[in-house]
Amino acid sequence: QAKTAGRNTFRFFDEAMHAQLVERRHLLSLLRGALERHELRLHYQPQIDLHTGEVIGAEALIRWQHPELGVVSPARFIPIAEESGLIVPIGNWVMREACRQAKAWQDAGLPRFVVAVNLSAVQFRLPDFCQTVADALTDSGLSPDCLELELTESLLINDADGVLETVRELKALGLQLSIDDFGTGYSSLAYLKRFDVDKLKIDQSFVRDMDRDADSAALVLAIVQMAHSLGLKTIAEGVEHEHLAAALRSLNCDEAQGYHFARPMPAGDFEGWLRNVVALPEDR
Ligand code: C2E
Ligand code: MG
Ligand code: MG
Ligand code: MG
Repeated sequence: QAKTAGRNTFRFFDEAMHAQLVERRHLLSLLRGALERHELRLHYQPQIDLHTGEVIGAEALIRWQHPELGVVSPARFIPIAEESGLIVPIGNWVMREACRQAKAWQDAGLPRFVVAVNLSAVQFRLPDFCQTVADALTDSGLSPDCLELELTESLLINDADGVLETVRELKALGLQLSIDDFGTGYSSLAYLKRFDVDKLKIDQSFVRDMDRDADSAALVLAIVQMAHSLGLKTIAEGVEHEHLAAALRSLNCDEAQGYHFARPMPAGDFEGWLRNVVALPEDR
């Protein structure tokens, strides 16, 4: 009896794994031509200074609009892109497109803000990665201080030697570096001493529970205080309600982003939203 159940369990996992593999292979085959078919887009989500209310940045978030599948979440296709190496051309496109768009907005007279681009460890480890970033800046004409690259904790702790050199080269270009999903990755904080980053992005999981859970609030406060004593800024992710924004303000968190302020939007909608926000003080 037990033996049969065991064997069935094995077969179940086997079939589930097989189905997953087939699905991934199918997605990969569709993803291969996605750039050329212009199915990839960037959406932009505003980042707000919690103390002045100003828009200080926008995070570029990739979207894949497939004619049959509809919108495929980056959580689903980015891992496939990373495994297959497709993340290199895709990531390069994201970088160039975000720089181009940010410069176009500046040229159109919108207030200056920083555009933040998510990076994959695969891109980061390429020997010519810094040159790719430098080229994106030169070709777009965007000032380096208007570009922020979002790194992850796991990226910084793996292969620390090469990484240290790349981080130094990137900082030498004059851009900003932040650590995404801070607090979820690694348990040692020693790496913060080694890398010259500018900002910690406090993970949504802490922010979401802040009002209900004293431990989450304590963690957010600890991260903010630690960041400030290291000379870093903090931005809270996933701020969905005004009371969370207020709580973050009282903990002295610098910046926030989340549905309470705005969802990620296509470039055209973002521009409209921004013009509206900027116009508000004059209208009153
Ligand atoms: P992330 O960089 O941590 O991005 C934050 C995610 O939270 C985004 O999901 C965003 O849409 C979502 N979000 C923003 N505000 C709120 C909120 O108030 N509540 C909730 N529940 N969610 C909120 P998205 O766009 O689905 O992206 C998921 C992840 O995919 C990103 O997490 C990032 O790791 C990755 N990703 C997105 N674009 C790129 C890219 O161009 N390159 C790479 N390598 N990764 C990317
Ligand atoms: Mg991010
Ligand atoms: Mg995040
Ligand atoms: Mg610094």
